[in-house]
Amino acid sequence: MTKSKNPLADPKARAAATQMVHGGTERSQHGETSEAMFLNSGYIYPSSGAAERRFKNEDPGYIYSRFSNPTVDMFQSRMALLEGAEAARGLATGMAAVTTALMSQLRAGDHVVSARALFGSCRYVVEDYLPRWGVASTLVDGRDPENFARAARPNTKVFFLETPTNPTLELVDIAAVAKIAHERGARLIVDNVFATPILQKPLALGADLVCYSATKHIDGQGRVMGGAILGSKELIGGDIHTFIRQTGPSMAPFNAWVLLKGLETLSLRVRQSTESAGKIADFLGNHPKVARVIYPHHKAHPQYELAQRQMAGGSTLVALEVKGGQEEAFRLADALAVILISNNLGDAKSIITHPRTTTHQRLSEEARLESGITPNLLRLSVGLEDADDLIRDLEFGLSQV
Ligand SMILES: *Cc1c(COP(=O)(O)O)cnc(C)c1O
Repeated sequence: MTKSKNPLADPKARAAATQMVHGGTERSQHGETSEAMFLNSGYIYPSSGAAERRFKNEDPGYIYSRFSNPTVDMFQSRMALLEGAEAARGLATGMAAVTTALMSQLRAGDHVVSARALFGSCRYVVEDYLPRWGVASTLVDGRDPENFARAARPNTKVFFLETPTNPTLELVDIAAVAKIAHERGARLIVDNVFATPILQKPLALGADLVCYSATKHIDGQGRVMGGAILGSKELIGGDIHTFIRQTGPSMAPFNAWVLLKGLETLSLRVRQSTESAGKIADFLGNHPKVARVIYPHHKAHPQYELAQRQMAGGSTLVALEVKGGQEEAFRLADALAVILISNNLGDAKSIITHPRTTTHQRLSEEARLESGITPNLLRLSVGLEDADDLIRDLEFGLSQV
């Protein structure tokens, strides 16, 4: 028999679960099982000529960990395999990823159209910082894609959105906005933190760049900060690589190592939390003290049809409005024993947040209400605890309202 090549030797032929365990691994001469942690800032060269060739990009080796490190490279390769992207870059935080994605695509005189329901710091960058640097921005209600078209100007270079949105889990139709952007020669950047790369694939829907806070589900165990940007080789290897190399919002190798381990279990964790979140949404939807439950795959969601089309699961987050006001919302959160009060999300530990008084405190009441952030709104990030325990915890909390 002639020797044939195993098709699974090609990483691209492997299913996502396999890629998340093996993808991107570069073993050193020691043959370690787990990915190695390269906690070094610099690299040495065998000769001056070799150093010169490396700086001229004639030799692909490492130069300096601000822009290239073997452990960070492994994280980037594994992320690219997961997203189905040509290339990826790791960043220090999710905000470093979003800021880098925007800054690398924009210059003074340009215009950005963004959905207004954004993670607090993303909104700060779009609304406050970009205009300071001569980039105008318009915030629109992202639920109707036509609002992006209406707000576009001849100098609009970037469309930016997050879906599902924080904290009210509204959806934006990625494919429709991508089409509007591309008709105008603009690029679409999607912050995909809430959906995770497991439940939603923005690049496949037409986005040009996708950003993550790896601090959330990718670590998923409350340990390190991190971020990622993914897209074409041209965009990532060009503007974005140069921006990171020259300005330094780089991912620490230790964090990349922790996040590589997070990727190994990401799919298991996200699927488990999503299944529990669906059960919790059903429970809350039938509870007499709950005015409204917001969950993308719950029948009551106003964009249920889009959620079915765009997302492979309903997300690990559930939002709810308790009957009453802020006092009732506080009473529910304060009575919980398993679910913790915190502002993080995507963690193994379930977390409840009162957005009005914490993550969205900086916004005016008018801006908050425009985004659906009412005094009785709570955001629940569903973790990996037993789903029935979480429901019992919420049942007790609601009994105290
Ligand atoms: C957390 C988060 C960010 C920022 O990420 P950090 O890692 O905290 O900097 C950006 N966008 C969304 C939607 C987030 O949830």
